[in-house]
Amino acid sequence: MSGATNTGGWQVNVDKTQGGASGKWLLGVLILLPLMAMLALLYFFDPNGYSFYPTCFFHQATGLLCPGCGSLRAMHQLLHGHVSAAFQYNAVLVISLPLLAGCGGLLLVGRFRHKPARLRLSGKWIWFMVGLALAFSIWRNLPGSPWAIH
Ligand SMILES: [Zn+2]
Repeated sequence: MSGATNTGGWQVNVDKTQGGASGKWLLGVLILLPLMAMLALLYFFDPNGYSFYPTCFFHQATGLLCPGCGSLRAMHQLLHGHVSAAFQYNAVLVISLPLLAGCGGLLLVGRFRHKPARLRLSGKWIWFMVGLALAFSIWRNLPGSPWAIH
């Protein structure tokens, strides 16, 4: 039993009573292997040059950039150490990656140290992030925007 309460936000609990040691390793492998495979794919195959990557339905339908447009190209650039180029493709992704990596790291460390890791986002933070993504999407579609990608 995790004792989690729902206060209108999102909450992730890692309960130390779930699964045994082999289950934890299996879960880690099931998460890390596909992640590593995707990162290797992005490293070796530039999304600008290969058509097997998924395309953005919003961009296809409207011609406008959504908050996620350019994320794969940004990840490719980041994997090659080109932070400035990655920033041009998707600044919000580049800014949020350290936060996401930190949250993922906390969850993993908590899981393997047998201490429940608890990440909690209040409703206000969720609305702030939704507003930020919406503002970024509007801004990057304005004429002359520095965040437009071509
Ligand atoms: Zn998009």
